[in-house]
Amino acid sequence: MAATPDYRQRFLFEYANVRGEVIHLGGALRAVLERRSYPAPVARLLGEAMAASGLLSAVLKFSGTLILQLQGKGPLTLLVASASHDRDLRAVARYGEDVPPGAAEPLERVTGGGHLAITIDPDDSRERYQGIVTLEQTSLAECVDAYFAQSEQLPTRVWLACDGRSAAGLLLQRLPGHDHGDPDAWNRAEQLGSTITGRELLELGTGEVVRRLFHEETIRLFEPEPMRFHCHCSRERLGNVIVGLGEDEAQDILATQGMLEAECDFCGKAYRFDAVDLRQLFARGGTGGAGSTRH
Ligand SMILES: [Zn+2]
Repeated sequence: MAATPDYRQRFLFEYANVRGEVIHLGGALRAVLERRSYPAPVARLLGEAMAASGLLSAVLKFSGTLILQLQGKGPLTLLVASASHDRDLRAVARYGEDVPPGAAEPLERVTGGGHLAITIDPDDSRERYQGIVTLEQTSLAECVDAYFAQSEQLPTRVWLACDGRSAAGLLLQRLPGHDHGDPDAWNRAEQLGSTITGRELLELGTGEVVRRLFHEETIRLFEPEPMRFHCHCSRERLGNVIVGLGEDEAQDILATQGMLEAECDFCGKAYRFDAVDLRQLFARGGTGGAGSTRH
């Protein structure tokens, strides 16, 4: 089989206020899964979360990052997937013992409950926005749906799939404005969207998905846009992680190891800090502000 390209593709109902996005991830997902060996249900969730973040970032109207974070109570303890406005994806997960063996385990068996936070983090001085829902649905897609249902945002549904090698997703969103004399269009689109199977999402191209679901509608399909795995970590951001340790602990590590090394969780890149670096970090420590909880 040919290598799966990584892309996201938009479509629009010509005569109704409905838009859609389809995403397909191959290499971008494998770049994450090759870095660490994840149990099957965690790998699947990583793929679904990457697809979801890629889909949701399509609605960003400014430069920034959309971050999807699952805070589980175990076996999965943390999963972070993010997508930037320029379609760079990254993801990482942490888990403990007793991950159930089946790839298709219900979400709650993998996370043990907890919550999903969706954060929009602008690059400029605009405020971060975060919405939170509990992880009580059977799938990640349903949790994302619940997030939209409780938020003030436009009605939105997502469907996600991952087979451990590739991931895919579909997003439908009801746009504001005149309903083109077709007030039922959104309900119809949502119901038809619900008939898509995971296998269809993974195997079909956007054109086929759209034809299969919405053959009675006039659809405008846009050009696919490439997605990729790319980490935005920087020396400054990892420096903020060290500031977060506190000066005493950082100095202790420096004293025993002669060097302080911080590795990016997402891409594995190591950043080294010596005594002079530490003095500088803590001299401006606490002023880090927005960068202090991310890297
Ligand atoms: Zn990195």
